[in-house]
Amino acid sequence: MNCAICGNKLKIFRSYKVNKVRLDYIRRICIDCVKKLGITKIDSETKQSLLLSHIEDLKRLIENKEKFSTRIQLERASVEKENEIQIKNEQEEKFKDVKNEFTIHGSIYSNVFLRDDNKQILLTKNNQNWYKIFKYSELETFERNIDEDVSYKTNKKHGITRAIAGNAIAGPVGAIIGSGTAKSNSVENHRIKSITFSIRFTSGYLYTIIFSGIDSQIKIADSLYLHLNGIISSNQRDNKKTIMSNNNELNNLTKLKELLDDGVITEEEFTAKKKQILGI
Ligand SMILES: [Zn+2]
Repeated sequence: MNCAICGNKLKIFRSYKVNKVRLDYIRRICIDCVKKLGITKIDSETKQSLLLSHIEDLKRLIENKEKFSTRIQLERASVEKENEIQIKNEQEEKFKDVKNEFTIHGSIYSNVFLRDDNKQILLTKNNQNWYKIFKYSELETFERNIDEDVSYKTNKKHGITRAIAGNAIAGPVGAIIGSGTAKSNSVENHRIKSITFSIRFTSGYLYTIIFSGIDSQIKIADSLYLHLNGIISSNQRDNKKTIMSNNNELNNLTKLKELLDDGVITEEEFTAKKKQILGI
């Protein structure tokens, strides 16, 4: 172990005593550096302010041959603490505003807020100021896992949506959603313990939310399922459109190249048109 200030090796097995307080417990500062800081006794106040000071500041004090002052360090620490509180309050305020906007303009599914008007997703966590905002277009896929109590049989229908008829779901998303349909009959007879959603975004970010098996939660989870499905279908339609328009652009470019090769248009005309098509 080395001294945090000078980097010299600390002799850990020997206690460094200044007024019977072990300094290596405080901050791993060697006795030489403590002396250089002008500290002659370590009382509780000194100990506390040493703990609160930044190593960089202590280094600077030694470099400038200044003495360590308990009062200055404590004052600084209290200012820092005030700043921290202020930042935290600002974050809380910001979070409240964001949440409020989504509450007014969107749909709330526990900690997930979906805004159709500007196509944004707000993710939050229980009792925390944590949040993340994504665009609908960033929603890549989601998985819904229904945990059932198979030993419990009931005639009550919970009405969980299994698959969406007439919905053009293709690819990996379809596979995930489709997998739920197989046991649709069995599920109706069992009590649901919980419903877990794993929501993945194009950045690779994965968000998980769990709903309990009580009726009101199942209802919310089902609405979330439908809403997310709608977004994914819409994203897929948009992707298709993009691919088609890309294909059109490619066709146009191919035709242009033919015109250039046949000498119908000049090189400049070709380049200008190409830039226009590619939007560059
Ligand atoms: Zn040192």
